[in-house]
Amino acid sequence: MSGHYQTVLLFGPPGVGKGTQGEILARIPGFFHSSTGSIFRSLDMNSDIGRIFYQYSSRGELVPDDVTIKIWSQHTYANTIIGLFKPDQDLLVLDGLPRNPKQAKLLYKYISVLKIINLVCRDREALFERMKKRALKQNRADDAKDEVIRRRFEVYEAETRPVLECYDPDLITEVDAMGAPAQVLSHILDAVVPIQNGHFKNPLGGT
Ligand code: ADP
Repeated sequence: MSGHYQTVLLFGPPGVGKGTQGEILARIPGFFHSSTGSIFRSLDMNSDIGRIFYQYSSRGELVPDDVTIKIWSQHTYANTIIGLFKPDQDLLVLDGLPRNPKQAKLLYKYISVLKIINLVCRDREALFERMKKRALKQNRADDAKDEVIRRRFEVYEAETRPVLECYDPDLITEVDAMGAPAQVLSHILDAVVPIQNGHFKNPLGGT
């Protein structure tokens, strides 16, 4: 192995369901889910980094790239040390990273991208509504106000969508994100299981 984490990117606009699908995949042996949004939200909001996160996310802006990559790489490495992530057995499922082309470049030294699942939803209003519901349930400052959600969509279009151009188009599989979660999952697995079979042994110890 090259020393890079073997990786699947979950890609798509805010509210499209990357976190939902990532969390389901995380329950399946052989996948390790890593979400920069949840890593940031788990920080102590009184720490320096917690404050930086709040300062940017509450405006719908991206956290600066150097901070993001540093926190993510330390968090991921720590998970290898405590054995939650076994890079020689597990596919890394990255959700919310990279969020701009600069981050994609900074990640080259850490990850090999084997597949990109592009979750597609053209109905922005439906995403908007999902995010408002989520804000109520999860107490999220970044989804609470309409103008912040709108800013997050603008940032997605201007900064995040161009990430797709950083990778070989053959790696990208589009998945319709508006089906039921089980249906979306089934399409993701169709794309990802062959990748897992190609790279790893059965994580439960079979062939
Ligand atoms: P969603 O799942 O709705 O797209 P996330 O939970 O991934 O949102 O992210 C929440 C917030 O955390 C973002 O609006 C942003 O401020 C910050 N964030 C998450 N990932 C990154 C990243 N890779 N780079 C910079 N900021 C990030």
